[in-house]
Amino acid sequence: KGKKAGRRTVVAFDADMLGDERHRRFIERELRAALLMDELELHYQPVFSAATMTIKSHEALVRWRHKVRGMIPPGQFVGIAEESDLIDRLGDWVLRRACADLPALGSDSVAVNVSPAQLRHADYAARFAAVLMETATDPRRIIVEITETVPLNAGGVAMANLEALRAMGVRIAIDDFGAGHASLQYLRGFAFDIIKIDRTYVANLADSRIDAMIVSAICDIARSLPVEVIAEGVETQEQLAKLKLAGVTGLQGFLLGRPAALVRERRASAA
Ligand code: C2E
Ligand code: MG
Ligand code: MG
Ligand code: MG
Repeated sequence: KGKKAGRRTVVAFDADMLGDERHRRFIERELRAALLMDELELHYQPVFSAATMTIKSHEALVRWRHKVRGMIPPGQFVGIAEESDLIDRLGDWVLRRACADLPALGSDSVAVNVSPAQLRHADYAARFAAVLMETATDPRRIIVEITETVPLNAGGVAMANLEALRAMGVRIAIDDFGAGHASLQYLRGFAFDIIKIDRTYVANLADSRIDAMIVSAICDIARSLPVEVIAEGVETQEQLAKLKLAGVTGLQGFLLGRPAALVRERRASAA
């Protein structure tokens, strides 16, 4: 492994020290500057086909390389970006970069995480299409991952955007399936292409019969829809074996490949 031990992830900002509101505004200001100064980067984690155990796509995961504080994970800034127009700028940057990187990734497709906040704009799908056009990207090679945290109302703007993307050939995935409250209702309301089972189910697979049964049941439902099922957070051989048995179609997790910058990714695939 060519992993640099020195590249640590730090708890970048101490909310207690600043107070919640001041903390939020501080990060917002810094992030706005970071977008201008090109301090963000994408790391890519491979997703494997369960049938062939070859890489079929990569998920793009944003990181903030702060000049003083080091590498900041998305959990520390995406939520704050979602409270303003910053999420739209961040999202556009992520899509454009992922499309530009796709030829070098060496996989069929790339998955980007899209915040429900981005889908609230009526022109989202049109702007998305413009980026694909600019970067000469085939829409069928893009997967959009959305979390089930926000209700998808029939006839709503978010739903219209998803339908427009899907009509273009973009595949739509439900992320963290089972972690929210709307899982089954989501499946009823929209023709998703991919279900990504939340990693908490995968983590409990060895000890919990219930979790194993739920994973199998999701795979059964998915097979008859038909929808692809990707298991997230695969960390052990035991989990891998159980997931294959349950019938997942895709596998993603530290056991198979960690998120990595594109340079390392290319070196790894050349070896
Ligand atoms: P997610 O979309 O569910 O991404 C998977 C997360 O699980 C990633 O964390 C990944 O590093 C981590 N992971 C992958 N395999 C394993 C494993 O085997 N074990 C464990 N413990 N974790 C694993 P990361 O990169 O910190 O991202 C966290 C979340 O931040 C993402 O969850 C996604 O919701 C959000 N996010 C990341 N990039 C973007 C982005 O560009 N835009 C938006 N809106 N959200 C993003
Ligand atoms: Mg995701
Ligand atoms: Mg997830
Ligand atoms: Mg998530």
